[in-house]
Amino acid sequence: MTANSTKPRILTGDTPTGKLHLGHYVGSVENRLALQDQYECYFLIANKHAFTTRADKPADIRQSVLDIATDWLAVGIDPNRSAMVLQSEVPAIDELTFFFAMLIPFNRVMRNPTLKDEIRDKGLGDNYPFGFPMYLVGQVADILAFRPELVPVGEDQLPHLELTREVARKFDQLYCNVDPKTEDKDYVKAGGLFPVIQPKLGRVKRLVGTGAPGPDGNLLKMSKSLNNAIFLSDDADAVQKKIMGMYTDPKRIRATDPGETSPEKNPLWAFHEVFNPDVKWVDDHRDLYKQGKVGDVAVKKKLVEVINDLIDPIRTRRKHYEARPDDVLDALRQGTKRADAVAEETLALAKKAMKQDYFPRKLGF
Ligand code: ATP
Ligand code: MG
Repeated sequence: MTANSTKPRILTGDTPTGKLHLGHYVGSVENRLALQDQYECYFLIANKHAFTTRADKPADIRQSVLDIATDWLAVGIDPNRSAMVLQSEVPAIDELTFFFAMLIPFNRVMRNPTLKDEIRDKGLGDNYPFGFPMYLVGQVADILAFRPELVPVGEDQLPHLELTREVARKFDQLYCNVDPKTEDKDYVKAGGLFPVIQPKLGRVKRLVGTGAPGPDGNLLKMSKSLNNAIFLSDDADAVQKKIMGMYTDPKRIRATDPGETSPEKNPLWAFHEVFNPDVKWVDDHRDLYKQGKVGDVAVKKKLVEVINDLIDPIRTRRKHYEARPDDVLDALRQGTKRADAVAEETLALAKKAMKQDYFPRKLGF
Protein backbone atom coordinates (compact mmCIF):
# COMPACT_ATOMS: atom_id res chain seq x y z
CA MET A 1 0.00 0.00 0.00
CA THR A 2 1.25 3.50 -0.74
CA ALA A 3 0.28 6.97 0.35
CA ASN A 4 -1.38 7.32 -3.06
CA SER A 5 -3.86 4.49 -2.61
CA THR A 6 -7.38 5.42 -3.57
CA LYS A 7 -9.01 3.72 -0.61
CA PRO A 8 -10.60 5.97 2.01
CA ARG A 9 -8.49 6.33 5.12
CA ILE A 10 -8.91 5.36 8.74
CA LEU A 11 -7.00 6.87 11.62
CA THR A 12 -7.16 5.68 15.19
CA GLY A 13 -4.78 4.85 17.98
CA ASP A 14 -3.84 4.17 21.56
CA THR A 15 -1.90 6.03 24.23
CA PRO A 16 1.09 4.03 25.47
CA THR A 17 0.16 4.15 29.14
CA GLY A 18 0.03 0.36 29.43
CA LYS A 19 -0.94 -2.69 27.44
CA LEU A 20 -4.10 -3.32 25.43
CA HIS A 21 -7.09 -4.57 27.40
CA LEU A 22 -10.50 -6.09 26.69
CA GLY A 23 -12.05 -2.61 26.45
CA HIS A 24 -9.76 -1.74 23.56
CA TYR A 25 -10.59 -5.03 21.95
CA VAL A 26 -14.36 -4.53 21.77
CA GLY A 27 -14.22 -0.73 21.62
CA SER A 28 -11.86 -0.30 18.71
CA VAL A 29 -9.60 -3.23 17.81
CA GLU A 30 -12.37 -5.44 16.39
CA ASN A 31 -13.29 -2.62 13.99
CA ARG A 32 -9.68 -2.05 13.03
CA LEU A 33 -9.29 -5.70 12.12
CA ALA A 34 -12.53 -5.77 10.16
CA LEU A 35 -11.67 -2.65 8.15
CA GLN A 36 -8.02 -3.35 7.30
CA ASP A 37 -8.85 -4.39 3.75
CA GLN A 38 -11.41 -1.82 2.70
CA TYR A 39 -9.52 1.18 4.09
CA GLU A 40 -6.02 2.58 4.07
CA CYS A 41 -5.40 2.33 7.81
CA TYR A 42 -3.16 4.40 10.06
CA PHE A 43 -2.89 3.21 13.64
CA LEU A 44 -1.09 5.67 15.86
CA ILE A 45 0.76 5.10 19.12
CA ALA A 46 0.32 8.47 20.85
CA ASN A 47 3.56 8.45 22.82
CA LYS A 48 3.63 12.22 23.26
CA HIS A 49 0.19 12.09 24.85
CA ALA A 50 1.48 9.57 27.38
CA PHE A 51 3.71 12.39 28.68
CA THR A 52 0.60 14.34 29.74
CA THR A 53 0.30 12.17 32.83
CA ARG A 54 3.72 10.55 33.12
CA ALA A 55 6.44 12.92 32.04
CA ASP A 56 8.50 11.53 34.92
CA LYS A 57 8.37 7.97 33.56
CA PRO A 58 10.01 7.96 30.13
CA ALA A 59 11.24 4.38 30.48
CA ASP A 60 7.68 3.18 31.17
CA ILE A 61 6.40 5.05 28.13
CA ARG A 62 9.10 3.49 25.98
CA GLN A 63 8.18 0.04 27.24
CA SER A 64 4.48 0.70 26.63
CA VAL A 65 5.15 1.76 23.05
CA LEU A 66 6.77 -1.60 22.40
CA ASP A 67 4.02 -3.40 24.35
CA ILE A 68 1.24 -1.78 22.33
CA ALA A 69 3.00 -2.43 19.02
CA THR A 70 3.44 -6.07 20.09
CA ASP A 71 -0.22 -6.24 21.13
CA TRP A 72 -1.32 -4.91 17.75
CA LEU A 73 0.64 -7.55 15.90
CA ALA A 74 -0.68 -10.18 18.32
CA VAL A 75 -4.33 -9.29 17.71
CA GLY A 76 -3.78 -9.51 13.96
CA ILE A 77 -2.96 -6.02 12.68
CA ASP A 78 -1.00 -6.63 9.49
CA PRO A 79 1.84 -4.08 9.20
CA ASN A 80 2.01 -4.56 5.45
CA ARG A 81 -1.57 -3.46 4.99
CA SER A 82 -1.97 -1.04 7.91
CA ALA A 83 0.58 1.57 8.93
CA MET A 84 1.66 1.31 12.57
CA VAL A 85 2.69 4.88 13.40
CA LEU A 86 4.80 6.39 16.15
CA GLN A 87 3.39 9.85 16.85
CA SER A 88 6.63 11.53 17.98
CA GLU A 89 8.31 10.73 14.67
CA VAL A 90 5.72 12.54 12.57
CA PRO A 91 6.66 16.21 13.09
CA ALA A 92 3.89 17.55 10.84
CA ILE A 93 1.39 16.54 13.56
CA ASP A 94 2.98 18.99 16.01
CA GLU A 95 3.09 21.75 13.46
CA LEU A 96 -0.60 21.34 12.72
CA THR A 97 -1.32 21.33 16.46
CA PHE A 98 -0.13 24.91 16.83
CA PHE A 99 -2.23 26.20 13.96
CA PHE A 100 -5.30 24.24 15.09
CA ALA A 101 -4.93 25.61 18.62
CA MET A 102 -5.89 29.02 17.18
CA LEU A 103 -9.17 27.63 15.91
CA ILE A 104 -10.33 26.16 19.22
CA PRO A 105 -11.73 28.35 22.01
CA PHE A 106 -9.83 27.72 25.26
CA ASN A 107 -13.02 27.25 27.27
CA ARG A 108 -14.29 24.70 24.79
CA VAL A 109 -11.28 22.51 25.66
CA MET A 110 -11.68 22.97 29.40
CA ARG A 111 -15.39 22.05 29.26
CA ASN A 112 -14.71 18.79 27.39
CA PRO A 113 -16.52 16.08 29.42
CA THR A 114 -13.94 13.36 28.71
CA LEU A 115 -11.15 15.65 29.89
CA LYS A 116 -13.11 16.26 33.09
CA ASP A 117 -13.70 12.52 33.60
CA GLU A 118 -10.01 11.84 33.10
CA ILE A 119 -9.03 14.52 35.61
CA ARG A 120 -11.42 12.94 38.13
CA ASP A 121 -10.77 9.25 37.44
CA LYS A 122 -7.00 9.61 37.24
CA GLY A 123 -7.00 11.75 40.42
CA LEU A 124 -5.16 14.63 38.75
CA GLY A 125 -6.76 17.34 40.90
CA ASP A 126 -5.37 20.78 39.98
CA ASN A 127 -1.92 19.44 39.40
CA TYR A 128 -2.04 18.51 35.76
CA PRO A 129 0.39 20.16 33.36
CA PHE A 130 -0.53 22.69 30.68
CA GLY A 131 0.11 19.91 28.17
CA PHE A 132 -2.71 17.78 29.57
CA PRO A 133 -5.61 19.80 28.14
CA MET A 134 -3.41 20.50 25.13
CA TYR A 135 -3.57 16.85 24.16
CA LEU A 136 -7.08 17.49 22.87
CA VAL A 137 -5.72 19.87 20.26
CA GLY A 138 -2.92 17.42 19.54
CA GLN A 139 -5.45 14.68 18.96
CA VAL A 140 -7.29 16.82 16.42
CA ALA A 141 -3.96 17.10 14.57
CA ASP A 142 -3.26 13.35 14.94
CA ILE A 143 -6.49 12.73 13.10
CA LEU A 144 -6.60 15.51 10.53
CA ALA A 145 -2.95 14.98 9.50
CA PHE A 146 -4.25 11.89 7.71
CA ARG A 147 -7.47 13.41 6.34
CA PRO A 148 -9.32 10.20 7.18
CA GLU A 149 -12.95 9.40 6.58
CA LEU A 150 -13.51 7.16 9.59
CA VAL A 151 -12.18 7.13 13.14
CA PRO A 152 -12.98 3.89 15.06
CA VAL A 153 -13.08 4.63 18.79
CA GLY A 154 -14.81 3.97 22.10
CA GLU A 155 -17.55 6.27 23.36
CA ASP A 156 -15.22 8.35 25.58
CA GLN A 157 -13.62 9.72 22.43
CA LEU A 158 -16.79 11.24 20.94
CA PRO A 159 -16.29 14.73 22.43
CA HIS A 160 -12.75 14.77 21.02
CA LEU A 161 -14.05 13.77 17.62
CA GLU A 162 -16.68 16.49 17.74
CA LEU A 163 -13.87 18.97 18.30
CA THR A 164 -12.04 17.48 15.32
CA ARG A 165 -15.13 17.97 13.17
CA GLU A 166 -15.40 21.58 14.30
CA VAL A 167 -11.78 22.33 13.49
CA ALA A 168 -12.12 20.75 10.04
CA ARG A 169 -15.18 22.90 9.29
CA LYS A 170 -13.57 26.05 10.62
CA PHE A 171 -10.30 25.53 8.76
CA ASP A 172 -12.10 24.77 5.51
CA GLN A 173 -14.35 27.81 5.87
CA LEU A 174 -11.55 30.20 6.86
CA TYR A 175 -8.78 29.08 4.54
CA CYS A 176 -10.43 27.15 1.72
CA ASN A 177 -13.50 29.33 1.18
CA VAL A 178 -15.97 26.57 1.91
CA ASP A 179 -19.48 27.91 2.41
CA PRO A 180 -20.57 27.39 6.06
CA LYS A 181 -23.88 26.04 4.79
CA THR A 182 -22.14 23.08 3.14
CA GLU A 183 -23.22 19.67 4.43
CA ASP A 184 -20.57 17.86 6.45
CA LYS A 185 -20.17 15.08 3.91
CA ASP A 186 -19.49 17.58 1.13
CA TYR A 187 -16.68 19.65 2.65
CA VAL A 188 -13.90 18.14 0.54
CA LYS A 189 -16.01 18.26 -2.61
CA ALA A 190 -16.60 21.96 -1.88
CA GLY A 191 -12.84 22.60 -1.87
CA GLY A 192 -12.05 21.94 1.79
CA LEU A 193 -8.73 20.39 2.73
CA PHE A 194 -10.07 18.48 5.73
CA PRO A 195 -13.00 16.05 5.66
CA VAL A 196 -15.51 16.35 8.50
CA ILE A 197 -14.68 12.92 9.91
CA GLN A 198 -17.12 10.28 11.09
CA PRO A 199 -16.63 8.37 14.35
CA LYS A 200 -17.16 4.62 14.22
CA LEU A 201 -18.11 3.09 17.54
CA GLY A 202 -17.30 -0.52 18.36
CA ARG A 203 -19.59 -3.42 19.22
CA VAL A 204 -19.33 -2.19 22.81
CA LYS A 205 -19.11 1.55 23.28
CA ARG A 206 -17.78 1.49 26.81
CA LEU A 207 -16.68 -1.69 28.54
CA VAL A 208 -16.61 -1.39 32.31
CA GLY A 209 -13.66 -2.42 34.44
CA THR A 210 -13.38 -5.17 37.06
CA GLY A 211 -13.52 -2.73 39.98
CA ALA A 212 -16.11 -1.00 42.17
CA PRO A 213 -18.10 2.07 40.98
CA GLY A 214 -16.54 5.53 41.00
CA PRO A 215 -17.62 8.47 43.19
CA ASP A 216 -20.75 9.08 41.10
CA GLY A 217 -21.97 5.49 41.71
CA ASN A 218 -21.37 4.35 38.12
CA LEU A 219 -18.98 1.56 37.20
CA LEU A 220 -15.76 2.99 35.78
CA LYS A 221 -14.67 2.37 32.22
CA MET A 222 -12.03 -0.33 31.85
CA SER A 223 -8.86 1.67 31.54
CA LYS A 224 -5.14 1.07 31.47
CA SER A 225 -4.57 3.63 34.16
CA LEU A 226 -7.31 2.64 36.60
CA ASN A 227 -6.05 -0.76 37.69
CA ASN A 228 -9.30 -2.39 36.60
CA ALA A 229 -8.30 -3.97 33.31
CA ILE A 230 -7.90 -7.49 31.96
CA PHE A 231 -5.07 -7.26 29.46
CA LEU A 232 -4.82 -9.15 26.20
CA SER A 233 -1.34 -10.13 27.39
CA ASP A 234 -2.45 -11.48 30.79
CA ASP A 235 -1.61 -15.16 31.28
CA ALA A 236 -4.31 -17.68 32.23
CA ASP A 237 -3.50 -17.37 35.96
CA ALA A 238 -3.74 -13.58 35.94
CA VAL A 239 -7.10 -13.77 34.17
CA GLN A 240 -8.32 -16.27 36.76
CA LYS A 241 -7.15 -14.11 39.70
CA LYS A 242 -8.66 -10.93 38.28
CA ILE A 243 -12.01 -12.53 37.54
CA MET A 244 -12.29 -14.51 40.78
CA GLY A 245 -11.47 -11.30 42.71
CA MET A 246 -13.58 -8.93 40.68
CA TYR A 247 -16.32 -6.65 42.00
CA THR A 248 -19.83 -8.08 41.68
CA ASP A 249 -22.91 -7.43 43.82
CA PRO A 250 -21.72 -6.16 47.22
CA LYS A 251 -25.10 -6.91 48.82
CA ARG A 252 -24.88 -10.57 47.92
CA ILE A 253 -23.34 -12.41 50.87
CA ARG A 254 -24.52 -15.96 50.09
CA ALA A 255 -25.23 -17.75 46.83
CA THR A 256 -28.86 -17.98 47.94
CA ASP A 257 -29.23 -14.18 48.08
CA PRO A 258 -30.91 -12.73 44.96
CA GLY A 259 -28.19 -11.07 42.84
CA GLU A 260 -27.89 -7.92 40.72
CA THR A 261 -27.65 -8.80 37.02
CA SER A 262 -27.70 -5.38 35.40
CA PRO A 263 -24.52 -4.97 33.32
CA GLU A 264 -24.50 -1.32 34.43
CA LYS A 265 -24.11 -2.39 38.06
CA ASN A 266 -22.41 -5.77 38.00
CA PRO A 267 -19.34 -6.19 35.74
CA LEU A 268 -19.69 -9.99 35.94
CA TRP A 269 -22.83 -9.76 33.81
CA ALA A 270 -21.43 -7.00 31.61
CA PHE A 271 -18.57 -9.34 30.69
CA HIS A 272 -20.77 -12.40 30.13
CA GLU A 273 -23.04 -10.38 27.84
CA VAL A 274 -20.13 -9.07 25.80
CA PHE A 275 -17.83 -12.06 25.62
CA ASN A 276 -19.74 -15.31 26.26
CA PRO A 277 -20.77 -16.75 22.88
CA ASP A 278 -23.21 -19.17 24.59
CA VAL A 279 -26.23 -16.89 24.80
CA LYS A 280 -28.47 -19.60 26.25
CA TRP A 281 -26.02 -20.24 29.10
CA VAL A 282 -25.97 -16.51 29.86
CA ASP A 283 -29.78 -16.20 29.79
CA ASP A 284 -30.30 -19.29 31.98
CA HIS A 285 -27.67 -18.32 34.53
CA ARG A 286 -28.74 -14.69 34.67
CA ASP A 287 -32.17 -15.93 35.79
CA LEU A 288 -30.66 -18.32 38.34
CA TYR A 289 -28.39 -15.57 39.70
CA LYS A 290 -31.32 -13.19 40.03
CA GLN A 291 -33.21 -15.83 42.01
CA GLY A 292 -30.27 -16.77 44.25
CA LYS A 293 -29.85 -20.20 42.68
CA VAL A 294 -26.29 -20.00 41.45
CA GLY A 295 -23.24 -18.62 43.21
CA ASP A 296 -20.75 -15.99 42.09
CA VAL A 297 -17.99 -18.58 41.98
CA ALA A 298 -19.65 -20.75 39.30
CA VAL A 299 -20.48 -17.74 37.12
CA LYS A 300 -16.96 -16.37 37.53
CA LYS A 301 -15.38 -19.73 36.69
CA LYS A 302 -17.35 -19.85 33.45
CA LEU A 303 -16.16 -16.32 32.64
CA VAL A 304 -12.53 -17.34 33.21
CA GLU A 305 -13.00 -20.05 30.55
CA VAL A 306 -14.66 -17.66 28.12
CA ILE A 307 -11.98 -14.98 28.44
CA ASN A 308 -9.11 -17.44 28.23
CA ASP A 309 -10.62 -18.93 25.06
CA LEU A 310 -10.69 -15.44 23.53
CA ILE A 311 -7.17 -14.50 24.58
CA ASP A 312 -5.41 -17.82 23.89
CA PRO A 313 -4.71 -17.32 20.17
CA ILE A 314 -3.62 -13.72 20.89
CA ARG A 315 -1.19 -15.04 23.53
CA THR A 316 0.31 -17.47 21.06
CA ARG A 317 0.95 -14.78 18.46
CA ARG A 318 2.21 -12.43 21.16
CA LYS A 319 4.88 -14.96 22.18
CA HIS A 320 6.03 -15.08 18.57
CA TYR A 321 6.54 -11.30 18.44
CA GLU A 322 7.95 -11.02 21.96
CA ALA A 323 10.79 -13.22 20.76
CA ARG A 324 11.32 -10.91 17.76
CA PRO A 325 11.53 -7.32 19.05
CA ASP A 326 13.36 -6.24 15.88
CA ASP A 327 10.36 -7.23 13.78
CA VAL A 328 8.15 -5.10 16.01
CA LEU A 329 10.43 -2.07 15.58
CA ASP A 330 10.61 -2.67 11.84
CA ALA A 331 6.82 -2.67 11.62
CA LEU A 332 6.78 0.67 13.43
CA ARG A 333 9.58 2.14 11.32
CA GLN A 334 7.92 1.12 8.08
CA GLY A 335 4.46 2.38 9.08
CA THR A 336 5.78 5.65 10.49
CA LYS A 337 7.63 6.38 7.28
CA ARG A 338 4.45 5.95 5.25
CA ALA A 339 2.50 8.06 7.70
CA ASP A 340 5.12 10.80 7.68
CA ALA A 341 4.77 11.20 3.92
CA VAL A 342 0.99 11.61 4.21
CA ALA A 343 1.22 14.05 7.13
CA GLU A 344 3.90 16.12 5.33
CA GLU A 345 1.61 16.38 2.34
CA THR A 346 -1.27 17.51 4.57
CA LEU A 347 0.93 20.10 6.29
CA ALA A 348 2.13 21.49 2.96
CA LEU A 349 -1.46 21.79 1.73
CA ALA A 350 -2.54 23.37 5.02
CA LYS A 351 0.26 25.95 4.91
CA LYS A 352 -0.61 26.74 1.33
CA ALA A 353 -4.23 27.28 2.29
CA MET A 354 -3.07 29.54 5.16
CA LYS A 355 -0.75 31.44 2.81
CA GLN A 356 2.32 30.36 4.79
CA ASP A 357 4.01 28.45 1.98
CA TYR A 358 7.14 30.57 1.59
CA PHE A 359 9.73 27.91 0.87
CA PRO A 360 9.49 24.25 -0.03
CA ARG A 361 10.93 22.02 2.65
CA LYS A 362 12.43 18.57 2.79
CA LEU A 363 12.75 16.65 6.02
CA GLY A 364 14.66 13.41 5.97
CA PHE A 365 13.39 10.29 7.65
P1 ATP B 1 -5.83 5.62 29.60
O1 ATP B 1 -6.36 5.07 30.89
O2 ATP B 1 -4.36 5.87 29.61
O3 ATP B 1 -6.64 6.78 29.08
P2 ATP B 1 -7.37 3.88 27.98
O4 ATP B 1 -7.51 2.53 28.58
O5 ATP B 1 -8.50 4.84 28.10
O6 ATP B 1 -6.03 4.46 28.56
P3 ATP B 1 -6.74 4.81 25.36
O7 ATP B 1 -5.41 4.55 24.75
O8 ATP B 1 -7.01 6.15 25.94
O9 ATP B 1 -6.98 3.70 26.47
O10 ATP B 1 -7.88 4.47 24.31
C1 ATP B 1 -7.65 3.79 23.06
C2 ATP B 1 -8.96 3.49 22.35
O11 ATP B 1 -9.66 2.46 23.05
C3 ATP B 1 -9.93 4.66 22.28
O12 ATP B 1 -10.61 4.60 21.06
C4 ATP B 1 -10.89 4.41 23.42
O13 ATP B 1 -12.16 4.97 23.18
C5 ATP B 1 -10.98 2.89 23.38
N1 ATP B 1 -11.29 2.39 24.71
C6 ATP B 1 -10.49 2.49 25.81
N2 ATP B 1 -11.10 1.95 26.87
C7 ATP B 1 -12.30 1.47 26.44
C8 ATP B 1 -13.39 0.79 27.07
N3 ATP B 1 -13.34 0.48 28.35
N4 ATP B 1 -14.47 0.46 26.32
C9 ATP B 1 -14.52 0.75 24.98
N5 ATP B 1 -13.52 1.39 24.33
C10 ATP B 1 -12.43 1.75 25.04
MG1 MG C 1 -8.11 6.94 27.54
